[in-house]
Amino acid sequence: MFCTNCGKAIAPESKFCPDCGARQTAGLPLSQSMPVGPPAPAAAAMTVPAAAPSTSSPAGRPALWAGAAALVVALVGGVGYWGWSRTDDQIVRQLADEEQRRVAAERVAEAAEITAAQALLDKHIAVEEAEAQARARTSVQDQNKRTTVNR
Ligand SMILES: [Zn+2]
Repeated sequence: MFCTNCGKAIAPESKFCPDCGARQTAGLPLSQSMPVGPPAPAAAAMTVPAAAPSTSSPAGRPALWAGAAALVVALVGGVGYWGWSRTDDQIVRQLADEEQRRVAAERVAEAAEITAAQALLDKHIAVEEAEAQARARTSVQDQNKRTTVNR
């Protein structure tokens, strides 16, 4: 047989041309010459990036790139799904933890708010009482001054 790339005579069983190193696809059955199709995704992923740039036939390139792109999409999708399903219950547990912590923090904040509001109210009441007492005292002490103080 002859090399499909440089045309030199080579051994009929050769997978690669000893002269130029091109992969020989013409003399081999399709299943052996095209490893991009059915084999396992891991093996295909390893062969596709190495094989794609070295392919010298321009006509076969778009189909090869399309195949490589589809494979990458499938791999990314698969890995993404795998990662998602693997960490799914971890995420659920984490979310539950976060929700619990959020509720606890909310309760603490609410309690703090209530105590703060109560303290404010107490202070307000105390101030009003003091004011009322002061006013009462003032009214007792000086009737005229009371009318100017009481706005
Ligand atoms: Zn050759």
